[in-house]
Amino acid sequence: MSRDILKELRAGEISSLEVIDAIIEAAQDDVFNAFVSLVDPSELREQARGADRAREAGEARPLEGWPVAIKDNICTRNLTTTAGSKILEDFESPYEATAVQRLRDAGAIVVGKTNLDEFGMGSSSETSHIGPVRNPADPDRVAGGSSGGSAAALAAELALGALGSDTGGSVRQPASHCGVVGLKPTYGRVSRNGLIAYASSLDQIGPMASTVEGCARLFDAIAGHDDRDATSLAVEPAGPGCADVLSEGVDGMTVGLPEEYLGEASRLDPQVRSRVEAAIEALEEAGAETTSVSLPHTEYAVATYYLIATAEASSNLARYDGVRFGRRAEDADDLAELYKKSRAEGFGDEVKRRIILGTYVLSAGYYEAYYEKAQKVRTLIRRDFESAFEEVDALVAPVAPTPAWTLGEKRDDPLEMYLEDIFTTSANLAGIPAMSVPSGTTDQGLPVGTQLLGPALSEPVLFRLAQKIFEQCNDEASGRG
Ligand code: GLN
Repeated sequence: MSRDILKELRAGEISSLEVIDAIIEAAQDDVFNAFVSLVDPSELREQARGADRAREAGEARPLEGWPVAIKDNICTRNLTTTAGSKILEDFESPYEATAVQRLRDAGAIVVGKTNLDEFGMGSSSETSHIGPVRNPADPDRVAGGSSGGSAAALAAELALGALGSDTGGSVRQPASHCGVVGLKPTYGRVSRNGLIAYASSLDQIGPMASTVEGCARLFDAIAGHDDRDATSLAVEPAGPGCADVLSEGVDGMTVGLPEEYLGEASRLDPQVRSRVEAAIEALEEAGAETTSVSLPHTEYAVATYYLIATAEASSNLARYDGVRFGRRAEDADDLAELYKKSRAEGFGDEVKRRIILGTYVLSAGYYEAYYEKAQKVRTLIRRDFESAFEEVDALVAPVAPTPAWTLGEKRDDPLEMYLEDIFTTSANLAGIPAMSVPSGTTDQGLPVGTQLLGPALSEPVLFRLAQKIFEQCNDEASGRG
């Protein structure tokens, strides 16, 4: 399939049925292990025919006939929602996530559920109960995580749009490693109703696509208030949607370059640095002004994130007790043993590690030293961004310190894995939007993304900047849509 496919679909140059048939054929042999489950082909063809009829009748909705893939920690009807965990292996949600419902209402066709790190806890998509995702750019390497299946499905053209979830980088980092576009929206901009909770004050569903325009159209479809999520923002930004501002350019915008992310001390891989610098040049050529800024509390972001995220995870995952949800151990003599056995059998090592860590930092005597202190540092990190955004419209940064690494390389070293999140966790702690836009590849052909961050509700600004980088830094990219 060509990467202009969305344009061709809208122009009626290719039918939804042809697109779906190509996907069904390619997905039969899911060499990248991108999917946990797929919708029945006859059902997909039926929906595609419906989309073609709507287009012929001039009644096409904004995403009519777009095949989309949904991360398997987002609830859907008709397909299991496993969160990549043995404990939810057979779980069928009785309802659909609001974001998925909105995609369907806009005409999209859900093709399947994508592979991920168990409960979204990871940076490599290696810990799911069905095994690791492989990176389409190099199948011996990780796809990034935890939305690695969504990113790989897009890169392998098994879907034209996808949803991921981002608690500390899980949309942006796999997007960067697989060469696709991914947005973590402002906290509260997209409903979390139907997202399986990992760390509720950080979690956000985000759109992913092969092009900036595709990502913007998905975002426009899923964003907005939802009564079913108490943290959903009631404000509706004025003005046109993100897809309608892409051509407005960046002339006159001021973009900050955070010293802590780009300076010598950041230990950035030289190839990543050179791609991010190319993205910065692209913005300067397009008329944006750049200036150095400082985010002094950056060095505490990973520690702060892993205290808050694990604390919230330990509480959120208490519901998997073998009684109400998912896997139930056999041969338990009493209730306490049922809980213990079901959880011991159902959760993987990384999830257990986090539950233990989170329980520890919330426990009496340690709460003040760890959890409460982390909350205070979280405020300092948020204030760093607030002061930076008094001077600049947005920030440019790397997404990850290195390109995708070899499968297995960091699996047994949790700390090494956590440090991969150095540039992404701050946006979640501050609740601000951030996105990853493909910025070319390393000498070995591995994709590298550049990160754009902005103040709350600045998604239209980020999309305009992303469009410029996308056009300039990806040879075959110009004119994609
Ligand atoms: N890698 C981070 C973690 O393991 C982020 C995961 C995510 O955003 N879901 O927690």
